[in-house]
Amino acid sequence: MGSVKDYFQSLGSGVLSLLKGMQVTGKEFVTPKITERYPEDRETYKWPERFRAVLELIYDNEGNHKCIACGTCERNCPNGTITIESKMVDTPAGTKKKKLDNYIYDLGSCTFCQLCVTTCPTGALRFSNDFEQSVFTRSKLVKKLNYLPEKPEPELTEEEKARLAAEKEAKIAAAKAKAAALKAEREAAAGAPAAAPAPAAPKADDAAAKALAAAKGDPEKEAKIRAALERAAALKAQREAAKKAEGDK
Ligand code: SF4
Ligand code: SF4
Repeated sequence: MGSVKDYFQSLGSGVLSLLKGMQVTGKEFVTPKITERYPEDRETYKWPERFRAVLELIYDNEGNHKCIACGTCERNCPNGTITIESKMVDTPAGTKKKKLDNYIYDLGSCTFCQLCVTTCPTGALRFSNDFEQSVFTRSKLVKKLNYLPEKPEPELTEEEKARLAAEKEAKIAAAKAKAAALKAEREAAAGAPAAAPAPAAPKADDAAAKALAAAKGDPEKEAKIRAALERAAALKAQREAAKKAEGDK
């Protein structure tokens, strides 16, 4: 009797399970398809924002990138995927500047951790979602990211030229004033007669005036020059007092 009951129970549960399965199948039968028909839908497919396919340098509309060849990305890459080659170039301002020569990236060893992107101080990198990167040899996965021709250093504007000239002059004048103050200090300490440094005084004054004029607008520089001048004046007064005392004896 018990076995007949078990038989009908298991028959009932089998029918229920069958109906449940048919319910799922029926639902999926009318649900819109979500599978992709790649590559037929290549033109219309929207790739997710977060998808990381390949590293690239960000170029603006004028063909400039922001990489300053600091090497931070290279140092932070855990796989040695990036190699930065830099060079020194002359700038129109007459100085030297470090510039990116080759940005080499090996897609074959990249783990897409994005450390390079997040640590770049200038925001020069990003991941594109161009995933179609199949090649026949690993060597073809090594890419040069700075692929556009290098541009010459931009010429200085007249304002920049004037600013640089003023800065240079201010530096020279400040150095002269400092040297004059130091000389006076040394002479005072050595108790030298005041007659010898007398001709140098106007020069220091000229230099000081020039330095102050050039440092106009830069309170820090101006304060430094004034402090040096005050020190020199104090020493001069000290020297003269010592000389007078000597004469009174
Ligand atoms: S991409 Fe960024 S971190 Fe890497 S070298 Fe250039 S500026 Fe430095
Ligand atoms: S994503 Fe990670 S592994 Fe790939 S180049 Fe950047 S730091 Fe290296």
